[in-house]
Amino acid sequence: MTRFFHGAATSTGRVRRVNEDSYLVLPPLFAVADGMGGHDAGEVASAVAVGVLERYARSGPLSVDAVLTALDEANRAVIGNAEAVRMGTTVTGLASLVTPAGSQLMVFNVGDSRVYRLADDHFGQLTVDHSEVQELVLAGAITPEQARTHPRRNIVTRALGSDYVVRPDHWLLPPLPGDRYLICSDGLTGELTDEEILPLLRAGDQQQAAEALVAAADEAGGHDNTTVIVVDVIG
Ligand code: MN
Repeated sequence: MTRFFHGAATSTGRVRRVNEDSYLVLPPLFAVADGMGGHDAGEVASAVAVGVLERYARSGPLSVDAVLTALDEANRAVIGNAEAVRMGTTVTGLASLVTPAGSQLMVFNVGDSRVYRLADDHFGQLTVDHSEVQELVLAGAITPEQARTHPRRNIVTRALGSDYVVRPDHWLLPPLPGDRYLICSDGLTGELTDEEILPLLRAGDQQQAAEALVAAADEAGGHDNTTVIVVDVIG
């Protein structure tokens, strides 16, 4: 079984009244959910989704199927929640799997929260945003830098709670000791470029890095809620 050290931090930011992000730090599962919807419904949506994932994290060793089932169940739980008619949430994260082939890491994503990996000197985004601006970037219509300030940057094209069929992306990776994973809501990446994130992610232990990143997002404007989980693979 892969072991981890982890840290986490979240902030409402400087503009929003409520923190609609939720997160889960419960090995073998780490996840960030960014809720959306009027009248604080987003707060409910992200908490409902994370609550379902928490149940699966406590249920024992995870498989790809178990994580996909958890995401499907989380989707139905958000749709079925009676507290608001229109609400949804992103969800992204990292699961440690026990497979016949040995230990594996599964990165999963629905929406525009992100997972990054820092391995030796290579730092990069693993997930692909499900957002209108990502479609425009792929089409070559705008640059990633323009996407960060584009007026439609907050429009997600996939989320839990919008459709009975949820289509999560997932990737399988080897658990390499020394690798550091960053799981974050768009409050971080809306304020900071990847180049600005890297030195803060690299400095200090997991908790120090998580707190420094959230503080930097607030410092840069704090227009949105920001949540950061930092996970180190130990062995
Ligand atoms: Mn957000």
